[in-house]
Amino acid sequence: MLVVMQKGASEETVKALVNAIENRGYTARPIPGGERISIGILHNTGSVDANHFQGLDGVKEVIPVTKPYKLVSREFKQENTCIRVGDAVFGNGSLPVIAGPCAVESEDQILSIANSVKDAGAALLRGGAFKPRTSPYSFQGLGKNGLELLAKARKETGLPVVTEAMDVETFDLVEEYADIIQIGARNMQNFSLLRRAGKSPRPVILKRGMSALLQEWLMAAEYIMEEGNNQVILCERGVRTFVRHSRNTLDLTVVSAVKKESHLPVIVDPSHAAGVREQVISLAFACAAFGVDGIMIEVHNKPEEALSDGAQSLYPEQFKTVMEKMKAIHAIVGKN
Ligand code: PEP
Ligand code: MN
Repeated sequence: MLVVMQKGASEETVKALVNAIENRGYTARPIPGGERISIGILHNTGSVDANHFQGLDGVKEVIPVTKPYKLVSREFKQENTCIRVGDAVFGNGSLPVIAGPCAVESEDQILSIANSVKDAGAALLRGGAFKPRTSPYSFQGLGKNGLELLAKARKETGLPVVTEAMDVETFDLVEEYADIIQIGARNMQNFSLLRRAGKSPRPVILKRGMSALLQEWLMAAEYIMEEGNNQVILCERGVRTFVRHSRNTLDLTVVSAVKKESHLPVIVDPSHAAGVREQVISLAFACAAFGVDGIMIEVHNKPEEALSDGAQSLYPEQFKTVMEKMKAIHAIVGKN
């Protein structure tokens, strides 16, 4: 249920409404909008009687919410959510690009990549310090040292950093260093991790699970928002299908489907979708044309020596060309 307030409703009127909702045992969540404020009613076990609130002071209308997700839905908030990090804005029609290696491997590696992606026009630097690897024998990331190297790269280039929090135990540490915290595909339904991310002051990139339905993905985002963190960026990274010609299958249609259902920004990671760099390049062009809210691409200075995801990492020179072309494509078709 959503209580929409009249334009210009005073703070006291809103507060009185919040009290009226809470006195009935529900949670009230004010949602500021462009024109007027709305108040979402949460934690109702059964249906809520609209008549309780319909005639109260300052109330314009009471709208039943038909979707299982609430805070993430366009029923609750019509305007796009814009998330600003450094100079980048996700959700305003621009195309911020997050680029960097799969994993931070050494000081030379991360500084070299950070400088080249910055020169090419990337808005943020990515790099994993805690890596969710399929095999326990694969490189697991540098941990705290990786975070320190990211901080060094940020200082040198001015680029904000995106890095993954893999579990609740190391979340505090990652939060100290990250400008945006990534929750990976394998952890999309790690509910304790989602709740912890919901208590963070940092924006969160929530990657789509490799076989997640749109509804499951949005419900995962709902966990984060329900804890109070409204800064959620959704990231499509390909889903598992029967094909063998690419690592995963990029599902671009989910971007438009999600944007219909939700006000949250949706970015795309063509690197983990494709798994091989030639495919990453053409998918990146498709993303730029599609009107996505941002792109995340893996770049490595020596992909053949990379400790993870070398085959899908672009060479810095390739990335530079891709950036120029994406910019041109986005200028023609991407903005709407
Ligand atoms: C990554 O971004 O390096 C990563 C592991 O991504 P995903 O969770 O999408 O597999
Ligand atoms: Mn990777």
